[in-house]
Amino acid sequence: MFFFDPLYLLLMLPGVAFAAWASWRTKSAFDKYSRIGTLNGLSGAEAAKRLLDGAGIHDVQIVPTEGVLSDHYNPMTKTLALSQPVYGSRSIAAVGVACHEAGHAIQHARGYKPLHLRSALVPTAGIGSKLGYFVMLGGLFLMMVSPGLGQNVVLFGAVLFSAVLVFQLVTLPVEFDASNRAKELAVANGIIFEQERPGMDKVLNAAAMTYIAAVVSTLLTLLYFLIRAGLLGGRDD
Ligand SMILES: [Zn+2]
Repeated sequence: MFFFDPLYLLLMLPGVAFAAWASWRTKSAFDKYSRIGTLNGLSGAEAAKRLLDGAGIHDVQIVPTEGVLSDHYNPMTKTLALSQPVYGSRSIAAVGVACHEAGHAIQHARGYKPLHLRSALVPTAGIGSKLGYFVMLGGLFLMMVSPGLGQNVVLFGAVLFSAVLVFQLVTLPVEFDASNRAKELAVANGIIFEQERPGMDKVLNAAAMTYIAAVVSTLLTLLYFLIRAGLLGGRDD
């Protein structure tokens, strides 16, 4: 019954469609600019190194990692992990992604607050996303037997689930700031020429959209449970 709920489909489908579109766009922008080499000719790893050197950061290790679009910076180990299609490639896409990850390393070195907040929220968000969803779901079923109690359980689950939303919201400035640093510093350090910026921008902006899609999906999920439990909008029964 829950899975045939028209309200569920009405609220979930746009979120799923938006997320799918954003991830498709990220992949297609990356594929397109993976085939276009940079004028400078640096590889992703070399570009990240030059960006960090330019920022006076010399204690970050740049290593290759498995997987596609698995690039990330680990503040605990000060390791910048670049996926195979990024590490050795001399394309605009590879250099763009590498510079974005270097942007995270610069945030870390400069004590950029949202990055630290985001790291601190990781464990809470992980628990909240799984537990919160099932508590909200359990609350809806409980409402059939005991409306008052079930409603409170949904509310409690929603509070847990909100940890994910907070995490995803804090992620937004972190990601946008890393991309802004990457775009600016890549040109300033001669890694990317001004005429190559539109390509780099397309790759990084498409990736940023996936983070917005994640926020929208979480918001819609939360909205569904709150409406269904009669906690938002009018009662429908
Ligand atoms: Zn990032």
